[in-house]
Amino acid sequence: NNMLEIKGITKTYNAGKPNQIEVLRGIDLTLKRGEVVALTAPSGAGKSTLLHIAGLLDVPDAGTVTIAGQDMTGLGDRRRTAMRRAGVGFIYQFHHLLPEFTALENVVLPQLANAVPQAEAEARAMALLDKVGISRRATHRPAALSGGEQQRVAFCRALANGPGLLLADEPTGNLDPETSDLVFDVLMELVRDEGLSALIATHNHELAAKMDRVVKLDMGQVVPA
Ligand code: ADP
Ligand code: ADP
Repeated sequence: NNMLEIKGITKTYNAGKPNQIEVLRGIDLTLKRGEVVALTAPSGAGKSTLLHIAGLLDVPDAGTVTIAGQDMTGLGDRRRTAMRRAGVGFIYQFHHLLPEFTALENVVLPQLANAVPQAEAEARAMALLDKVGISRRATHRPAALSGGEQQRVAFCRALANGPGLLLADEPTGNLDPETSDLVFDVLMELVRDEGLSALIATHNHELAAKMDRVVKLDMGQVVPA
């Protein structure tokens, strides 16, 4: 009963060139349903590459990615895009919200792209904003929000289409330590509440310790931390 199964993933950049770099050298990693795993790694170890491959934003040289029991390897572009859109939520270090749209609209838009009717999308967006404690900010644009609020909107956007899997790359990495701790707890509550499986990259050992399990990316392989 696994949400994510990664097997034998390899990735080399600039293959055959003098600057060739073998980033992933046979990654095996499994996330059970509802399991929250911390991914730690020194900068440059390949954490973003691994998250992008797990989230179908990049393709490996070899190996397989299975999400919710479905092998993504041989899947056509349309089915991959559908899974990326509705099956997987992504959170980055920087929020990447659309500056011209309100907090609410930023959470509504991915649902419209997934053919959810407007009224239903707005109700879901408001419920999410409420869960992270910023429904009062629904009509503000990102620039009018604090860093912690912006990131909370980004969490809601990532979960807008009800994915089973969440991938996060330093989700509170650009916030000051105090805000980071607070906002991270909000994220964990949301993840537990929605029953998600999550792979969350972080440099922060205290935050990592709040998850079910900690793994590290070392010499191109995933090992227990
Ligand atoms: P990227 O994924 O863009 O390569 P990282 O997320 O790995 O960057 O690192 C972000 C920043 O955090 C970098 O400036 C890096 O120097 C710094 N950093 C790396 N390791 C640690 C650490 N253990 N504690 C705090 N900061 C770190
Ligand atoms: P991390 O997120 O752990 O900092 P990345 O996955 O971003 O690591 O990068 C791992 C290594 O691969 C780094 O040395 C980086 O410079 C290199 N790299 C990442 N993306 C590319 C790319 N598109 N082309 C060439 N090299 C890349």
